[in-house]
Amino acid sequence: MAKIGIIGNGVAGTGAIREIRKLDSEVDIDVFSDERHPYYPKPNLMDFVGGSRTLEEIIRYGPEWYENLNANLHLSTPVTQVDPGIKALSTPSGIFSGYDSLLIAVGSYPFVPPFEGVEKKNVHILRTIDDAVDICRAVKGAGREIIVGGGILGIELAVAIKQTGGQPIVVTNVDRLLPIQLDGGASEVLIRHLDRMEVETLLGFTCTGMTGDELATGVKSTAGDIVEGDLIVVATGVRSNVELARSSNLSVERGIVVDDFMQTSAEGIFAAGDCAEWNGNWYGIIPWALSTAKTAAQNMIEFGSSRFNGIIPSNTLQVAGIDLTSIGVVHVESPDYEQIVSVDRKEGTYYKAVIKDNLVVGGIALGNRKVALKLRTLISQQTDVSEMKPTLFELE
Ligand SMILES: Cc1cc2nc3c(=O)[nH]c(=O)nc-3n(C[C@H](O)[C@H](O)[C@H](O)COP(=O)(O)OP(=O)(O)OC[C@H]3O[C@@H](n4cnc5c(N)ncnc54)[C@H](O)[C@@H]3O)c2cc1C
Repeated sequence: MAKIGIIGNGVAGTGAIREIRKLDSEVDIDVFSDERHPYYPKPNLMDFVGGSRTLEEIIRYGPEWYENLNANLHLSTPVTQVDPGIKALSTPSGIFSGYDSLLIAVGSYPFVPPFEGVEKKNVHILRTIDDAVDICRAVKGAGREIIVGGGILGIELAVAIKQTGGQPIVVTNVDRLLPIQLDGGASEVLIRHLDRMEVETLLGFTCTGMTGDELATGVKSTAGDIVEGDLIVVATGVRSNVELARSSNLSVERGIVVDDFMQTSAEGIFAAGDCAEWNGNWYGIIPWALSTAKTAAQNMIEFGSSRFNGIIPSNTLQVAGIDLTSIGVVHVESPDYEQIVSVDRKEGTYYKAVIKDNLVVGGIALGNRKVALKLRTLISQQTDVSEMKPTLFELE
């Protein structure tokens, strides 16, 4: 009987299990995870930190999910080496071999700049349940929480900490929040929402390190400014987990290099999710993980059956109680693009559509889920909007 091994039990790993079982009820599946817990979506960690869900409630698939899909889950079993020649893998508990194909879906890790004093006890990161538990414990006794990084993780975490009664402040080196997803105007509207929630933000603060002796007492900037705080979380981006692939002699750039079939440089070994790089593209978001995992799974069952075409990157989140969607192209400098922007500071809404050749290729919808849906539909249906421009954000 055919046999598949999956390394990593996150969005991509579990997405691949689902797809494989849709296509093949017989094939043997082994899933290896270095974590103690079965699958939980990472965004759920915010609910846990914010106190709205317990640890049990954030686990999406318990052991019965794996049993129902007839997949063998090996928890607390990190894979330390892959042998591409015989498609075997090594773990501390032994060597697993006999696979017809392998999927590497090991995700990414938090990138922490070499800040002076980053090793202090009250400086944290957030990636796993264990990190979230540590942060929750630390927040309880803290006076003021500093989050270094104004990306999605930093903002969502600050809001979660606020919900527990904390006093968070987000510091970021750039001139706006969510610099990948938003432009300056949208960031301003978001900052107003955060102000109302009493979540402080400080832009243009280039952190160089932590102050204090044994415990950090704050963060300092290149300009010599200091923000004082009792707990610090560094949320300054992620990097692909490529070490396993590199030590197994697979081709690696920013991520593990895959072709249109999600196959790595070794035949029968596939990669998907945050760890995979396709055509020079790499994203650390759930739509990427789901989409690449689906293609990988299809080709693991029948090689050549599915080609990856890329994704339109999109983020949808609820920040400070408002809906925020950023999709496709949002930052443009070329005159080939047209931008339509509508701001209502009183209502706290910001809409932007980026148009090329009368087609919407991206946009931002802050404060209204229906506008986000409209933008998404216009993009996916490639609607000619030449007649609709003055009323683009109106809803029927
Ligand atoms: C707190 C938080 C909130 C987020 N919110 C959003 C959001 O709102 N929207 C969005 O699109 N994205 C969000 N993301 C990003 C999103 O979670 C990732 O893009 C997604 O999880 C990637 O899926 P993956 O399967 O590639 O990696 P992961 O989900 O990280 O799974 C990889 C798994 O592999 C395991 N692993 C690693 N190395 C090994 C090894 N050697 N052996 C065995 N197992 C190993 C890891 O422990 C992990 O369990 C968030 C991330 C975090 C941390």
